[in-house]
Amino acid sequence: MYYNEETIIYLDGDFVKAADSKMNLYSQSLHYGYSAFEGMRSYKTAKGTKVFKQDVHFDRLRTSCEAVGIPYRWTNEELIKATYQLLEKNNLENAYIRPLVFCPPNMSLQKATTSHILLAAWQWGAYLGDSLLKVGLSTFQRPNPKGFKIHAKISGHYVNSIMACQEAKDNGYDEALLTDVNGFVAEGPGANIFYEKDGELFTPAPGNILTGITRATVIEICDEIGIEVTEKQVTLEELRAADTVFYCGTAAEIIGWESLDGNEFKIPFNNSVSKKIQTAYKNRVLEIEVLNKKCLVQV
Ligand code: PMP
Repeated sequence: MYYNEETIIYLDGDFVKAADSKMNLYSQSLHYGYSAFEGMRSYKTAKGTKVFKQDVHFDRLRTSCEAVGIPYRWTNEELIKATYQLLEKNNLENAYIRPLVFCPPNMSLQKATTSHILLAAWQWGAYLGDSLLKVGLSTFQRPNPKGFKIHAKISGHYVNSIMACQEAKDNGYDEALLTDVNGFVAEGPGANIFYEKDGELFTPAPGNILTGITRATVIEICDEIGIEVTEKQVTLEELRAADTVFYCGTAAEIIGWESLDGNEFKIPFNNSVSKKIQTAYKNRVLEIEVLNKKCLVQV
């Protein structure tokens, strides 16, 4: 699914076949989850293939590495150039791109002194699908920000995401909702949450979540089209009383919820203000100019 015999990856400055590439089994990243990664998307636009917010993603990759002491020696310029070359070599237009910075062998619990970079890309549909989500409240909470650099995209953090997502699927849901260490609404295993109430949007404030790039884009869109958006501590009671809810992330894009623990929300997603945001997001990633932004016409 992710690669075949022909697939090319970018590894430490070279374009090589994925099938021929090796990773050291003594890597500190493999043993301890000590690596940082990104998830970006490219879109086929009228002006050619464009990676959405490429600079912001590579800035975050650097920040994630710095947060946990993984050496990072690349410029955005060289990685962006490599990303477009990678897409071209693999004949990809609408793609998901996975940069990963990983570390050499080191069984001690100390910072790495060198690191490697991988860029891989593959075709990937909307990560959570196109249908409204049936979400289940997880028994898992997001990691304690006093124990982890929660704003960083570190591989090891995703064991928490895997457990929550699998638990939700085992219980018949499409996806999980995790609370934070204090029991407030936090985020999904791989997406941020917004809810809509009386035409306004609300989202958990930074501190206990990965403040995603899509989340920031949603806030930008709201500012642009005049929708009030508030970052706050969100209780489960507030969320349950919402008119509608959506998840957002690079892989998932914007996807509405049908229900939480089987209870449906008041307003059908397609009649909501959130639906307009979903349309505006599509327009933005596809670089479709909408003259009257408040109208938000076609995708
Ligand atoms: N929260 C978590 C835990 C995530 O893994 C992701 C995906 N990176 C997000 C939120 C959304 O982030 P972004 O919009 O930057 O993809």
